[in-house]
Amino acid sequence: MTWEFKLEPTAEPVSEIEHILDVCRNVWNFALRERKDWLDSRKSPVNACSIQQAFLLPADAPFPNYHVQAKRLTAVKANFPRLKTVNAQVLQQVLRKLDGAWESWRLKRSGFPRFKKPNRMRSFGFPQMLKTCISNEGMKLPQLGWVKVRWSRRISDLFEVKQARIVRKASVHQRIADTRKDWHFKLAHHLCDGAGMIFGEDLDFRIMAKGMLGQYPLDAGWGQFTHQILPGVCFKREVYYGKVDPRGTSQDCPDCGAEVKKDLSIRISHCLECGSIKPSDMAAAQVVCTRGQRGIENACGVGVTGSSVMNSSPLALKQEIFGATPGSSLCP
Ligand SMILES: [Zn+2]
Repeated sequence: MTWEFKLEPTAEPVSEIEHILDVCRNVWNFALRERKDWLDSRKSPVNACSIQQAFLLPADAPFPNYHVQAKRLTAVKANFPRLKTVNAQVLQQVLRKLDGAWESWRLKRSGFPRFKKPNRMRSFGFPQMLKTCISNEGMKLPQLGWVKVRWSRRISDLFEVKQARIVRKASVHQRIADTRKDWHFKLAHHLCDGAGMIFGEDLDFRIMAKGMLGQYPLDAGWGQFTHQILPGVCFKREVYYGKVDPRGTSQDCPDCGAEVKKDLSIRISHCLECGSIKPSDMAAAQVVCTRGQRGIENACGVGVTGSSVMNSSPLALKQEIFGATPGSSLCP
């Protein structure tokens, strides 16, 4: 049976809890790195040994499973005094939890375990509690001593407390940011599913936030999406990502290049030069796409006389450089 109670610690245990969480985080990241290195050293095919995988571990290096890592943890304590500042069972629990996350990834039940940034370690557990760890005031925890608890329900004397887990609740702000980030990753993967190249406007959302859109671009995390998440996912998925000059992308006709003056409230782009009519967003996206492709062509030296890259076909070269096929970009 698991019950949840709110701790009401004073400043001292709070800073101790923060410290424990941070050491747990270091242990998690180190142990995950060890497992990942082992995996990387194994999956490299013999005929395509990449630079990244050049630091091959010896072929007989055992997989760093829970027992290997727990043993190693004890051994390295002499060299890392910080590890000694946290209850040994708490750190073993971290390794056990990682083992569980790894197994569930291996069985395809969940994603690959992630490295944790500062403040991303949210909980730790005490696998063993004293029999007399509960009083009316609070609870006696290993390392932390007596901590005040708001007992929102009575624990019957018939029950014995076996384990305790301290969880730091995320703030509302943090939860919203997490949900948004999650959605941004899904969106980035979705975009990569349908494209060989993606172009984005090189916008500074801090400047937009000073204009008529107000804080919105910053709150919505657009900068994080276009400058970090999308390029990162594209890199991983081997989709070419390029930034283009954002000036006037909403003011050009995508079909003939003539200027179609309009403010953002006009939702249709109607070119008086060539008669092209399409939704403004689509027109702007097409302009961005054309600019991006032109940028690649220029980089490949297409049409530049005397350029040495003309020796091979520009198309083949493009594919060689970007592993992408022109025309499969996001443009409608
Ligand atoms: Zn036109």
